[in-house]
Amino acid sequence: MSESRINGNKTSALKVIELHPYASGNAVPTNEEQYDARIRVLGNTAPKYGPYNMYVCDTCKRHILTLDKAHGVTPFTIYCKAETLLDGAKPDEVECKGYMQSVVYRLPQDILLRQQPKVDMTWRYPTWAEFEKLPDGHKEHTLKGGLAPTTGEG
Ligand SMILES: [Zn+2]
Repeated sequence: MSESRINGNKTSALKVIELHPYASGNAVPTNEEQYDARIRVLGNTAPKYGPYNMYVCDTCKRHILTLDKAHGVTPFTIYCKAETLLDGAKPDEVECKGYMQSVVYRLPQDILLRQQPKVDMTWRYPTWAEFEKLPDGHKEHTLKGGLAPTTGEG
């Protein structure tokens, strides 16, 4: 193989890497070690806000208390989860079609941190086992700091 041929191959390989959406070290992790390292960088330590938050339904007017276990992003609006989280209803039994809106952490955090009330939902990064099963769009969301909801204390 000639020198120019080698260089030619290197160049085309570099072009492919540059065009890849996860270029420059942002590739989707392919094992638990890589994933944990990425999550640590995202801030899997203390949450920046809260950590307690509340979501209130615009239709049934019920609410849930949530806890962020890591620094990351949570949605402002979610489908009403009052029946599934508070009443133990199965997702296909839910009657309320409302949306729950975040109170954007406007709660007495000092009191809640002291009392540590039971929470209805916890926001955290998916485990590696959960991450592996996510669709690509969800993986991308996680790697941008998107926290995932888990029932109860998580
Ligand atoms: Zn509702």
